[in-house]
Amino acid sequence: MKITGVDVWALDLPLNRPYSLSGGRLRFERLDSTLVRLTTDEGLIGWGEGCPWGSTYLPAFARGIRAGIEELAPAVLGLDPRRTDVVYRAMSVALPGHPYVKSPIDMACWDIAAQAAGLPLCDLLGGRTEGSVRLHSSIPSGSPDELMAEIDLARAEGYTFHSAKVGADVDADIERMRFLDSRMESGEEVTFDANRAWLPAEAVAALNATTELNRVVEQPCETLDQHLQVRRLVRQPLAIDESLQTMGDLLRIIETGACEVVGLKIGRVGGLTVARRMRDLCMEAGIRMNIEDTGGTTLQATAAVHLAQATPEPFRRATWLCVEHLTVDPIEGGARNDGSGRANAPAEPGLGTRPDIDGLGEPMASHRPQ
Ligand code: MG
Repeated sequence: MKITGVDVWALDLPLNRPYSLSGGRLRFERLDSTLVRLTTDEGLIGWGEGCPWGSTYLPAFARGIRAGIEELAPAVLGLDPRRTDVVYRAMSVALPGHPYVKSPIDMACWDIAAQAAGLPLCDLLGGRTEGSVRLHSSIPSGSPDELMAEIDLARAEGYTFHSAKVGADVDADIERMRFLDSRMESGEEVTFDANRAWLPAEAVAALNATTELNRVVEQPCETLDQHLQVRRLVRQPLAIDESLQTMGDLLRIIETGACEVVGLKIGRVGGLTVARRMRDLCMEAGIRMNIEDTGGTTLQATAAVHLAQATPEPFRRATWLCVEHLTVDPIEGGARNDGSGRANAPAEPGLGTRPDIDGLGEPMASHRPQ
């Protein structure tokens, strides 16, 4: 089987209400996503998506994906998409680094490989595990009452696991964390995500004032070095998200015992091929994972749910569906909130989801063999 075409669409995804993180430093009103379609000489079609949650969240941006695919397309045309490692190495030769650019092509290859095997993608990523995948809400930063209002909306959708954004003024953050903790009901869980906002001294102050809450605190500082400084001086469980970008980062996280939880976002680490390797390494090291992506439609989320579905509990912690924040979702099928804050990987071969092709219009770029 050979890849015979690479088609690219840009997708404007308005948020249903503005979303702030990092104490309001970063504010988003819409996302810019990229859909990629791979066609093959045997008629199978694969879909992938890349959406880096704006340009300010990570060293990644939507137009970078589209420009990068222009570089990658000639390198993958003619390759067998079922040979996911071979395709990945070809992409790494054609464009070193830029992991998020590779993710949508890699995702589409996995979609085709699973269709060709006649299996849902989760079965190619290790095998479907028991039970459904727990979802977590994503609660934008705000006053304690604003945070609670968002949590109540998430509860109405069935969510029992919340990721609440903190990371502003330290005293206000201490108040926010204590307030939210006191409002959690039996069986509910909350993680406090600072999205790199605190300096190490601020993180130490905020965490040591809330030790007794024993909640996971995510990405307190900008860098892994700063995180390790904080780690030595606090006692609660920690999570690393934005500072995990490469396999080298994960090896250092394991070597230093930096955290109990990682946020494994498919696009940020460079696609399912790399995320699967990281998943396996985290399991060996006893690290729990939030397996998800950085944004996008149900297509991107469904790929994450497949990887989560193939990861046993308790390593699989929770997964986020960005689509809950969007006003549009031009995707058919796929993994959805079942109403109880959980989702299942689709049973049909491949990703089990695809865009409504009529609604997409003409692709903005199409690459074919020269
Ligand atoms: Mg996070």
